[in-house]
Formats: sequence, C-alpha cells, structure tokens
Amino acid sequence: MEFAILADAFRKMESTRKRLELTQYLVELFEKTPQEVISKIVYLLQGKLRPDFEGIELGVAEKLAIRAISKSSGIPIKKIETEYRKSGDLGSASTVILEQKTQTTFLMEDITVERVYETLFKIAKLEGSRSQDMKMKYISSLLNDATPIEASFILKILLGTLRLGVAENTMMDALAIAFTSNKENRKQLEHSYNVSSDLGKVAEVVASKGLEGIEKFEINLFNPIRPMLADRVKSEDEAIEKMGNKFAAEYKLDGERVQLHIEGERVILFSRSLENITSYYPDIVEKIPKSIQAEKVILEAEAVAINENSGEFLPFQELMHRRRKYKIEKAVLQYPISVNFFDILYHNGKSCLELEYQERRKLLEKIVKEDEFAKNIPMTIVTNENEIEEFLENSINAGCEGLMLKMLDKPYQAGSRGSHWLKLKREYRNELGDSLDLVVIGAFFGKGRRTGRYGTLLLASYDDDQDMFTSICKVGTGFTDEDLDQLYQILSDKVTIKKNPRIDSEMEADVWFEPELVVEVVASEITLSPIHKAARDQIRKNTGLALRFPKFTGKIRVEKAAEDASTNEEVMTLYKGQKKVAHDKNLM
Ligand code: ATP
Repeated sequence: MEFAILADAFRKMESTRKRLELTQYLVELFEKTPQEVISKIVYLLQGKLRPDFEGIELGVAEKLAIRAISKSSGIPIKKIETEYRKSGDLGSASTVILEQKTQTTFLMEDITVERVYETLFKIAKLEGSRSQDMKMKYISSLLNDATPIEASFILKILLGTLRLGVAENTMMDALAIAFTSNKENRKQLEHSYNVSSDLGKVAEVVASKGLEGIEKFEINLFNPIRPMLADRVKSEDEAIEKMGNKFAAEYKLDGERVQLHIEGERVILFSRSLENITSYYPDIVEKIPKSIQAEKVILEAEAVAINENSGEFLPFQELMHRRRKYKIEKAVLQYPISVNFFDILYHNGKSCLELEYQERRKLLEKIVKEDEFAKNIPMTIVTNENEIEEFLENSINAGCEGLMLKMLDKPYQAGSRGSHWLKLKREYRNELGDSLDLVVIGAFFGKGRRTGRYGTLLLASYDDDQDMFTSICKVGTGFTDEDLDQLYQILSDKVTIKKNPRIDSEMEADVWFEPELVVEVVASEITLSPIHKAARDQIRKNTGLALRFPKFTGKIRVEKAAEDASTNEEVMTLYKGQKKVAHDKNLM
C-alpha cells in the first residue's frame, strides 16, 4: 500500500478535531487498506508500532532527526534549526524545509506503508554503540524517497509528535463501519479490545473474518486484559442503595495492581496501565508459580510493601523504590512485598470473565495455596451498614485504604468503570469526597528553600472526548523536600521546548512537560474558573472548573498513564455532588 494514501489521511485528520469527520476519514482509509496491512495502519495512526504492552519505543532524538534531514536534503543543519524554532514542530517544519531541497534523488521510489513500518521497526530495535549511525542511515534513506508531506509524517511518528486526536472509541467506530457496515457492532469490537488490549489485532480479525471472527475472539495468555474499575461511594448508606442488601466487601489495599499471566514457570506481570512490569518483581516471578495450583492462569493481585517483621502493610510510596532498572535484587531485599490476590480472569484455557464474582472467588480460593508471600485479599459478605462499618474499621486498622464492595452475581467487566464494583475510602467521607489523579503539564521554579527545583506544579485533568489535558489547578503545598527532589528528577526528562498540542491551558508556566506523570491531590472544593480549562463550557459558558486549596498527597502515581488520570466527567460529577451536599445541608 502506498504510504501517500496514509499521509493524505493523516493530513486530513490533522485539520479537524470533530469526531464525526475523523471517523469518516478513518472509514475511507480503512476501505482502501489491504487486510495484511490493516494492523500496521492502526498502530501508525496511534503513533505506535505495536500495542503498548509490548513496550516498543522509537525513541529518536530531535538532534538525530535534524542530522538525517540535513543528510538527505543537503540543507545545512543551522537552517533546519531556524525553521524548527519558528514552527516548534520538527515534523511540520520539515515540509517547508524539504520543499527547498537542493539535492534531488534521481531514482526516487514510491514508498509503501510496509517499507516505512519495517524501517521504523528496525530503528526501534537498534541498540548499542553503532545504533545512532544506523538510525540515521535508515531515516535518511526513507526521507530520500519521501515527498515533503510524507517525510513530515514519518518524522512525527519517529519523534512521537503525531497527534491526530483519534481516541480508541473513534477507531472502533470506524472499524465497525468499514468492516461490518454497522456502527452498532462497536460493542463487540470493544469486547475484543478489552480482552486483548491490542487494537491492531482487533482490526486484523474484523478485516479478515468480519463479525464472526470478532465473536469468536478469545483471551490469549500473555496479552493483558484491560482492568475492571470501580465507582466511588461516600458512605455505607450509598453503597447499600446501589448494591442492595447482600454483597462482598474486600480490603482495599494500597499497593500496585498487578495482572499475573502464568504458565508453568513462565510469569509475565502487567501494571494497571498494562505496562510490562515483570522486571520490577523478580520475587513474584520466582515464588508465585509454586503457590498456584493450575497450569495456565491470569490472576489479579495487589502487590503491597510490607514490614517484614510485623507483616504490616506499608504505604504505596514504598513500592516506588522497586521502579528501577539496575540493582533490583537489592531493592527486593530492602523493600519486601506480599502478593494479595483478588480475582481470576482465565483458568486452564478458559475465560473466567463471564463467571459471577462469587464463582471466581471460590475458584481463586481453590487454586491459591496461601503462605506469607501469597494471600487472598480478606473478604466477607456484608448485609447491613454495621457490618460494612466494622469491616471498614478492620481494614483501616490493618493499614488499608478502605473497602472494595463487589456484587456477588456479576461478571468481570474488562475495561470498564461501573457500579458492580464500588470503592469506599475513609477520606471520601469529608471535604471533596475524593482525591483526584492529575497530570503534571507544567511547573514554576521555586524560591527560597525550593530554589533550583519546581516550587509549584500546573496540573490537568483528562478530557477523554478530545484526548486533551485541560488545566485545572496549580499546586504548591503538600510536598516534602524529598518529594520535591524526586519530582524534579522525574520531570526533567519530560521537559519540552513548546507546550505539547494536547495541553489546553491559558495559564503560562515557566516550564512545560510532556503530559505523562500523574500525581494525586486532594482539595477543599471545586469551583468555577474563568482561567482553567477543565470541563470548559460544560457548566457555564466561557468558564471551566478548578480545584480550591489543592494539596499533593505524596503519591506519585507511576502505575497510571496520563490517560488514566481523573477525567472531566469525574470532575463534573464531584462538582455536582458537592453542590448537592450543600443543597441538602441548607434544607436541613
Ligand atoms: P484508586 O486511585 O482508588 O487506586 P484506580 O483508579 O486505580 O483507583 P479503581 O478501580 O477506581 O482504580 O480502584 C480500585 C483499585 O484499588 C485497583 O486498581 C487496585 O489497584 C486497588 N485494589 C486494592 N484492593 C483491591 C481489591 N480488593 N479489589 C480490587 N482492587 C483493589
């Protein structure tokens, strides 16, 4: 397939943010795409080469790309840098630059999607001392044969700056229309996506086998399943109102969610955002297979840091020390954990997703042989407020965050946040009712004791409709000196020259970051704001929502991707909830 077709679709899609138009462009593109390249097209549309969980990163630096442009065009590096500074995006600047190309290639070949994809793949796989030169060679060979517009998109993919704003849902709408002629079939595609976390694979199946193939789609061991999430409730009362008068209550442990895929001695671990985190937990890989009495399973657990002497649970931050590339053996000894299972999703070749909660729990209890390291999360069946209250107290005393409440007769709903699982945390009972997970988009330099570090962070919530990060508050309290050092270190890798196009903020920051890092904050209130962009125009025209008196809780949520941050929808629900409480109080 000619790459020009894809570049043309990219160009059209870049010019709109409207979901319907984007869908239409996608459908047109998919209809022109041969079956064998559909998965590649789907990955490239998302600026990727493979599904996220495979962790394949292109990682090409701007400097290298500039050298490659210069090599293939004969244009001096200085001139390229000047153009780049003008536009702030090397991909876009390269169109202008390459139109002034002084060197012409006589044997220009049409480039195909396959060739671009394979070359990018080779670049991603390169390692070692000669890799920079090889990368440059591959890039300039592609640029030699590309038209200026094609080159600009190749560069955007390489640099990770291709932002088409196509959410996964839009992509699935378009796949359903193109290959089943009915948008309603999106639901089935969604199911396949939820159990495989691989949109390219879903596209391949629907393009080659249609709806029938999608209906037969099965869980594959070692392909992560998108996690089921919980709604929050503020009180025992509210839980009973939503769940009836008999349901399960489990401790809500404060650790890292881990999805374990196990076959014999082979163990792969995925995080909540489906990153492969196997290397951080060699102790799980070593010990868990001995505790599991099954051939092939997918289990879910919370890995929690513990005090080895007392067995007490320690706060989530302790696990941060495990997130390192080197000397992991030392960290394993220094920061011991226990693995606390709470669900089973797949057992000896069969999906367990359709089983009721109580059947899954029974199976879990049957196959996990408990010891000091591996346990099932404490669970009890509750039928009234007092029982919930009592179990909540026990859980808090054991160092947990609160309770997870689960309906007994419901299946596992992969990839969705629903009311079959509820979370009841102690802090939900006061003030805002909940903490928020927000994305760090910018920062302001510190003064006094904070000189040389960031004193205040600019945070954003996630607008999942537009795939944008909307400013919601500045936060400057709640940081210890250690937090400030750690944040400075993590954030220095994410600094950008210009504001990332996915950031929506009127407020100017001293530094802008790639929207990647998620932190947890609490606040006293959500207020209307003329400056901030969260849920802009949703409650009132030209007005957004902002947090009042936000405070960092000390939690850097490394296990969350930016797209897992609190959404504007959640912020609006909290805003409306607090209005309702105020209203109810006035009536009392
Ligand atoms: P939070 O910020 O409250 O951890 P979240 O957005 O990560 O929430 P939710 O589904 O809202 O995810 O809350 C459930 C989270 O709590 C899970 O992701 C998991 O990490 C953790 N957890 C702790 N104990 C349990 C349990 N017993 N059952 C399910 N999840 C649990």
